[in-house]
Amino acid sequence: MKVTVAIDGPAAAGKSTVAKLVAKKLGYVYIDTGAMYRAYTWYCMEKGVDCQDHDACINFVGEVSIVLKEDGAVLCNDIDVTRAIREPRVSGNVSYIASYKEIRLFLVDQQRKMAESNSVIMDGRDIGTYVLPNADVKIFQIASVETRAKRRYDENISKGITCTLEEIEEDVRKRDYIDSHRDFAPLTCAEDAITLDTSNMSIEEVVDAIINIIDKRLKEKYPNA
Ligand code: C5P
Repeated sequence: MKVTVAIDGPAAAGKSTVAKLVAKKLGYVYIDTGAMYRAYTWYCMEKGVDCQDHDACINFVGEVSIVLKEDGAVLCNDIDVTRAIREPRVSGNVSYIASYKEIRLFLVDQQRKMAESNSVIMDGRDIGTYVLPNADVKIFQIASVETRAKRRYDENISKGITCTLEEIEEDVRKRDYIDSHRDFAPLTCAEDAITLDTSNMSIEEVVDAIINIIDKRLKEKYPNA
């Protein structure tokens, strides 16, 4: 049976960390859609274009090729950008790029194709509402802004990315604001999504909770499977 799981939620809510683990346990393919918006942003910055310049940025649709490798590596026009796309300069600009409809349509098309042939767990902002509106399971993962900022700060430090907690908290708030206020496919909880507040949960607890939600939902949906 081919299964689609959508995990949406605000910035740094731990979606990708747990989605990766759940995918591994269940044998699904993990698709990090945020990495695609980040790679596109990286490309614009490499080209010296201002990410707030809509017309200049959408010009690259068609010449940007983004590949998400199975081992988590991200390639942009064959360049390994896995690490570069996590840098604060990219985080600070990605929400502008993600607000441009032309770029979203370009990337969403690829995301839908990736979900055609495999069981997938896809995380982002608009997966349950726009990319995969018929997903079997939809989860909206949240946590307090302080918890999210602290988690992202610790993650960056462990990866050797220099930053301060204040910078991260400001970035998280700014991205949430832009992501939830854009016109096209904004960050919002799908009507049929289950909200999971992970503020006081460990990674293992979140993984177990998500696996239970998937299990329950699939049993309801396919009682004879
Ligand atoms: O998930 P991550 O925080 O890496 O995503 C980076 C940015 O990409 C988000 O802040 C948002 O602007 C954008 N994004 C989006 N839609 C998605 C995934 C990410 O707009 N499905």
